[in-house]
Amino acid sequence: MLCDFHLHTCFSGDSDTPPARQIEQAIALGMKQICVTDHHDYGVQTQCDFRLDLDAYFPAMERLRQQYRDQIRIEIGVELGLQCRVGAYLEELAGRYPFDFIIGSSHFIDGQDPYYPEYFQGRSEADAYRRFFESSLKRVQTLDCFDSYGHLDYVVRYGPTRNQNYSYEAYQDLIDPILKTLIEKGKGLECNTGGLRYGLGHPNPCEDILRRYRQLGGEILTIGSDAHSPEQVGYGFQTASRLLAACGFRYYTVFHRRKPEFLPLDA
Ligand SMILES: [Zn+2]
Ligand SMILES: [Zn+2]
Repeated sequence: MLCDFHLHTCFSGDSDTPPARQIEQAIALGMKQICVTDHHDYGVQTQCDFRLDLDAYFPAMERLRQQYRDQIRIEIGVELGLQCRVGAYLEELAGRYPFDFIIGSSHFIDGQDPYYPEYFQGRSEADAYRRFFESSLKRVQTLDCFDSYGHLDYVVRYGPTRNQNYSYEAYQDLIDPILKTLIEKGKGLECNTGGLRYGLGHPNPCEDILRRYRQLGGEILTIGSDAHSPEQVGYGFQTASRLLAACGFRYYTVFHRRKPEFLPLDA
């Protein structure tokens, strides 16, 4: 079983799952290593509080790491919401806490989360997608406070026609520079199986983007289910393993103390 490096617990504003339940589910699935990556989106206005209480999170995760150490290796991570205007805060935070792994994700674009339909109001779906990728490019160019870039085409989960009229080629002029920037900066790309769970028929990002990253020389590839509850842990990992091999990957990546370690995809 592949190691799940994108997991949420009740430390995230949108999950009520105790961390021990996610850990026990991972153990039951035969995972040897996982990373808990609760949300921290700073400087946004939402109904849901996406700020992580890091001073409570670290001691709690450290205790669980000790408690389960004979059964599973637990890494302590975070899913940081990237925004250029809070860049200095994010860089300082990434250095201040002893994270094993940081996912950088674009959740909020111009202050709006595409999860809510308002993001798509008053413009075409293609324009809304384009704006998402433009912001994403600016963020990966500007910010260094992350190890792997999360769910690159997250926006297509929520558009009016979702991924029916979406293709990598239509946004290649923005997606290629994102991939090249990640590679130049030594950052990874995440394969997020949440897309399979959402019924897109593809992970986020889609296979064409994963294949392109590999063709361009991308090697750091992390895998995560984005589970917010136990039944979502490791969701679609067999499918992911197969499609990643078809995209040209032989290894995937886990992190410890923010250093990559490579594991075979077919183990
Ligand atoms: Zn996310
Ligand atoms: Zn997530």
